[in-house]
Amino acid sequence: MLRLLTPLAKLWTGKLAVKICSETLECFGGAGYIEDTGLPQLLRDAQVYAIWEGTTNVLSLDSLRALAGDSLGALRTVSTGWLEGNDDMHAASTIRQTLDAAARWLDQHGNQRGQLEAGARGLAFTLARCAAAALLARQATWSTQHDDRRPAAALQRFVRRGLDRLVAPDADNTTLLLG
Ligand SMILES: Cc1cc2nc3c(=O)[nH]c(=O)nc-3n(C[C@H](O)[C@H](O)[C@H](O)COP(=O)(O)OP(=O)(O)OC[C@H]3O[C@@H](n4cnc5c(N)ncnc54)[C@H](O)[C@@H]3O)c2cc1C
Repeated sequence: MLRLLTPLAKLWTGKLAVKICSETLECFGGAGYIEDTGLPQLLRDAQVYAIWEGTTNVLSLDSLRALAGDSLGALRTVSTGWLEGNDDMHAASTIRQTLDAAARWLDQHGNQRGQLEAGARGLAFTLARCAAAALLARQATWSTQHDDRRPAAALQRFVRRGLDRLVAPDADNTTLLLG
């Protein structure tokens, strides 16, 4: 599981950092673009994560390597544990259904290397979102018991944006684009 979670965490947070810093600059309006505020540097520096953590493509291939073992089964088992005690049934069933869809996607494309690699980013983002949602559910369970409903609200909002980022690469297009 750690072999899978490591590239997933690196590639997803690397991409998220850029988006979040960009939104942060925008929150400040025009001032966010002005160098003296120090804000543009945050955005510039965030861009390095998706590069020096190993690049998104290469980390997606790392996650495929981890998936050659039974790491997806391990992720499913650990996610079930993270969901224990959480009363958001919609989140739990969305996570399970999305992990099932990922397993079917792997079965379907597992023996076509080109298609597998062409869809590797989508698969990695899907699994990263499932793991993040399950961890957020664990936090929400604890926080709700301590009178803080915000993580539960965040979980609801996150899951409603959908966890599935799987793509079905067209074989002809893949060959054409790889050529
Ligand atoms: C500021 C900075 C600090 C760094 N510090 C360290 C450090 O302390 N220690 C360290 O070990 N490294 C460090 N690095 C190196 C960093 O890990 C590499 O830059 C990174 O792994 C990308 O490798 P690369 O530069 O050789 O790019 P390349 O591997 O040449 O990648 C170029 C492009 O090709 C894509 N690509 C490459 N291979 C494939 C493939 N098989 N399939 C599909 N696409 C592919 C990549 O996604 C990328 O878009 C640092 C880099 C930077 C920018």
